[in-house]
Amino acid sequence: MSPKSKRFVILGTEILPGEKVELNFSLAKLHSRTAVSVPILVNRSKKPGPTVLFTAGIHGDEVSGVAIIRELIASKINHPQIGTIICIPVINIFGFLNKERNFPDGKDLNRAFPGSNKGSLASRVAFELVNGFLPLVDYVIDFHTGGADRFNAAQIRINPNRPELKPLANLFGAPFVVYSRLLAKSFRASCQKQGIPMLLFEGGKSNHLDEEIIEYGVTGAKRFLAHLKMLPTKLIPPPLKENPIIIEKSLWIRAKHSGMFQSLVKVGHLVAEGDIIGQITDPFGKFNRKIKSPNSGYIFNVNEAPLVYNGDALFHISTQYRHDKGTA
Ligand SMILES: [Zn+2]
Repeated sequence: MSPKSKRFVILGTEILPGEKVELNFSLAKLHSRTAVSVPILVNRSKKPGPTVLFTAGIHGDEVSGVAIIRELIASKINHPQIGTIICIPVINIFGFLNKERNFPDGKDLNRAFPGSNKGSLASRVAFELVNGFLPLVDYVIDFHTGGADRFNAAQIRINPNRPELKPLANLFGAPFVVYSRLLAKSFRASCQKQGIPMLLFEGGKSNHLDEEIIEYGVTGAKRFLAHLKMLPTKLIPPPLKENPIIIEKSLWIRAKHSGMFQSLVKVGHLVAEGDIIGQITDPFGKFNRKIKSPNSGYIFNVNEAPLVYNGDALFHISTQYRHDKGTA
């Protein structure tokens, strides 16, 4: 837990205690030769303390996460009273510009870690994050949304085998804490390898700004920083949700037919086994199949796509959950 104390150099620039700098991480040029860079804001207090890295836009179309870090910067939450806050609001700037998840070469940055300085563009970005940033960092909070039209309830995802993450996840104040396995070659896997606690926030869906999701992210980030004494404790907002639901196991309910899809349940709600939670119809009024919940549980992701194919993931439902009583 002791803050890392070494020379603080990012992208070749040394940043001293008390300094606030904006750096540009030059990624590549567009085909028109226009340079494209990722802005990085580093705010250091004069007083020593932990270093927290906030990242968003690893998937370029996950704009709610970008908006959460934007709000932290705009409201000066990134000015710590101790330690250092690094904000990278849009890592995959190419995807952000093109409203796409992946890099221009089709690579998913979150499957390119730990990367290589001689690899693809995504792989080089991963390499810089792992080698240029993580050695300076004590905690990471990475903001994501559901892919495509799949809308996630606000949730913190953690590796259940890392007990030290549980109290951090719970204090964030999101309605759900979801235990999820580490994905190979993910940013989270690289953080774990370096022993850096990482909270992965998921909320909303891609190419969509959701006010409530942004509020959960911003409030959680403030609570996290105040817990580390990086913000004055009088600024600690109450959690938007006390005692999150801990989702220990879950499954995806998939479409058994292709057609027009309508969800009949709101994301975040508890359903009983056999409840009708959606329907798939055809455009001609001849076909209508109700979708029943296979078990009781919380629906924490709902696909909002109007048209689906047989096999598409429609709902993410808990199969094992418990209420946190602050003892986890
Ligand atoms: Zn993502």
